[in-house]
Amino acid sequence: MPLMLPTILKNLFTGYATRLYPIQVREPFENARGQISFNEDKCTMCGLCALRCPSVAITVEKKQNKLTFYPFRCIVCEVCVHACPSDAIDLIFKWRPSSYDKPEEVYKSTRLEHLRETTDAAKDALATKEDK
Ligand code: SF4
Ligand code: SF4
Repeated sequence: MPLMLPTILKNLFTGYATRLYPIQVREPFENARGQISFNEDKCTMCGLCALRCPSVAITVEKKQNKLTFYPFRCIVCEVCVHACPSDAIDLIFKWRPSSYDKPEEVYKSTRLEHLRETTDAAKDALATKEDK
């Protein structure tokens, strides 16, 4: 007991070792693994991220122009960030808030949408030209 006395006294005056999360959120430190963020303007729906993800946290349905991300499956390994040829995935240094359920995030590619619109317009123009 006498040997423990300094530690007990120190602990009495240093406060809690834990935080009152989520009221008190710790600021991410340098090189922390925060969360994955998708950029719809850069994504082409190539599907490489989904193929490489070891946690099956991403699915890509190109025909539907739909990328679904399951953040609560993600282990923030960063494999998708390096696999993406369009630089459309970032690792951001911000913790994801806690949640009672496991919401998924759905993204669409604005690049693919624009490409399809342009192709459809070109096809229409060609069809009109051929009809004349
Ligand atoms: S960081 Fe890893 S686990 Fe998370 S989505 Fe990317 S590849 Fe999958
Ligand atoms: S995020 Fe990158 S790797 Fe994933 S589908 Fe979009 S372009 Fe392809």
